[in-house]
Amino acid sequence: MATVRPDALIIGAGVSGLTTAVRLAERGLTVHIVSKELTACTTSANAGAIWDPIYATHEAVPRWSAETYEVLSELAGAPGTGVRMVSGVEASRTVIPAPAWARQLPGFRECRADELREPFVSGWRYTAPIVDMPVYLDHLLRRLTSMGVTLAEGAVSSLDEVTGLADVVVNCTGIGARELLGDQSVTPVRGQLVAMTNPGITEFFAEHTAELTEEPDITYILPQGPDVVLLGGSAEDRVDSLILDKTVADGIVERCVAVEPALAGAEVLGHRIGLRPHREPVRVEREERDGATVVHNYGHGGAGVSLSWGCASDVARLVAAP
Ligand SMILES: Cc1cc2nc3c(=O)[nH]c(=O)nc-3n(C[C@H](O)[C@H](O)[C@H](O)COP(=O)(O)OP(=O)(O)OC[C@H]3O[C@@H](n4cnc5c(N)ncnc54)[C@H](O)[C@@H]3O)c2cc1C
Repeated sequence: MATVRPDALIIGAGVSGLTTAVRLAERGLTVHIVSKELTACTTSANAGAIWDPIYATHEAVPRWSAETYEVLSELAGAPGTGVRMVSGVEASRTVIPAPAWARQLPGFRECRADELREPFVSGWRYTAPIVDMPVYLDHLLRRLTSMGVTLAEGAVSSLDEVTGLADVVVNCTGIGARELLGDQSVTPVRGQLVAMTNPGITEFFAEHTAELTEEPDITYILPQGPDVVLLGGSAEDRVDSLILDKTVADGIVERCVAVEPALAGAEVLGHRIGLRPHREPVRVEREERDGATVVHNYGHGGAGVSLSWGCASDVARLVAAP
């Protein structure tokens, strides 16, 4: 625990907790973060991660994702942030029109038939932020240190245990909210990625599905600079194992090679596995508990990176509300 009582205690050091800490510290609050896993071991560190406003449910998703797109675009210009603006193709296995949000993005255009490979039959191009999560989370941690935010490892077993330790507690526990609050509406959607040497891919490929779990073999290729490309993916509903599934990894590589044959000669560098915290809707909400204030920020499903800045700004407003 911090030596001086902080204004805000944040539980969780994933992208939601760190981004929220930035927004609160910007408003002049003293902030301490406590987390069961340190940042490098969180779901957030294992994300792809491409900005994509689809895989979360809440009426504010368009506003949250728009703010996050703007902030990430600004960070993309600065070295060491892990954020880059990348052009590429989003494609569907069925014939569907491009969604309204995609039409508003820079570089949007419908794909020609000769730009798509089977089984993809419709698609569109745009430019979006792609985030190298370990680098980006380190950037956020450095920024927090420079703002005086402190962080300690530790598991919280109940909110009542910590509500007396700060004026406000912010709950950014992701899938951990299921146990911490007994909120059974947060469920895991297991995801697996394969990191490979980059054979020269500069554009992303992302499969479009209406729901994250609509296509368990969701396929995507996210270049993380000249050396590494991340191949996805999987979306296994209510599966909570963090053990590598070799069959899933082999299937990912096979599907991605079919879309991008240059990957056939690439080497596997490693695997990433995480539990997306699915909840309908995402919970960004203030709660008064026996005279203590708790603000919740969890349940972002497959879009926690894409919504992070918008949600953190709303948390800051909820904390400041009379
Ligand atoms: C394979 C994969 C690919 C993904 N791709 C994308 C993508 O392309 N774009 C995108 O936007 N999103 C993507 N996501 C989703 C994204 O990773 C999540 O939505 C996001 O990471 C959730 O962040 P979080 O900070 O809320 O939770 P987490 O990162 O899980 O962090 C929760 C934190 O709370 C701590 N905690 C939990 N319980 C307790 C407790 N009781 N006491 C103390 N600490 C506790 C944990 O230790 C952890 O530090 C992907 C996810 C996966 C798995």
